[in-house]
Amino acid sequence: MKRIGLFGGTFDPIHYGHLRLAEEAREFAQLDRVLFVPAARSPFRLEEPLTEAEHRLAMVRLAIASNSAFAVSEMEIQRGGISYTIETVEALQGEYSDAELFLILGADSLQGFPQWYQAERLAQKVTLLAGVRPPYDEKSVWQALPDWVRQRTLLVPMTPLAISASAIRQKVRAGHSIRYLTPDDVIEYIRENHLYTEPR
Ligand code: ATP
Repeated sequence: MKRIGLFGGTFDPIHYGHLRLAEEAREFAQLDRVLFVPAARSPFRLEEPLTEAEHRLAMVRLAIASNSAFAVSEMEIQRGGISYTIETVEALQGEYSDAELFLILGADSLQGFPQWYQAERLAQKVTLLAGVRPPYDEKSVWQALPDWVRQRTLLVPMTPLAISASAIRQKVRAGHSIRYLTPDDVIEYIRENHLYTEPR
């Protein structure tokens, strides 16, 4: 039985926080594959400006190119509209009928998980793999979770990295370096396509 990790996000842009979480989750849960799934639009960010899907997708491709266990899925982008993970999981269950599915997420997302669309149904279909994310305190996030989430969650012991896409966007806009926060190819792509230079 294949073990597949689904890793959703806006990836605007992808950065080393995402990549380390994916890598440490892969190793911890012995995943055969991590599938990065950029969202068309997160239900929690309906009003926020968002970089075109093609750019976000291209940056994910560049960032994961050297890792043969990592792949990208355009599923949510092609589906369009608001991206609900339950729909993605059900589509993946159809596609990989013999696979065990895991959902990779950071502590901030884990904290909000009970509010996700059809969260209880989703939690029956996947095992959650959650990584630390400063400044979120994993212990207090864990204690606040309902039992039905805890029973379906494994905490991934990962290197804490306080990197966020929003901080990267702010740095680019301010003309500051983003070196060592995301791979060089992503930085080059951001520069060539003049991303994140305008105020949002
Ligand atoms: P933004 O700063 O715009 O909110 P972000 O950096 O949080 O973006 P997302 O694409 O929203 O990036 O995150 C996708 C997933 O990756 C979420 O589950 C989030 O918790 C997780 N994640 C993002 N950054 C980190 C990090 N530094 N450490 C651990 N998990 C992270």
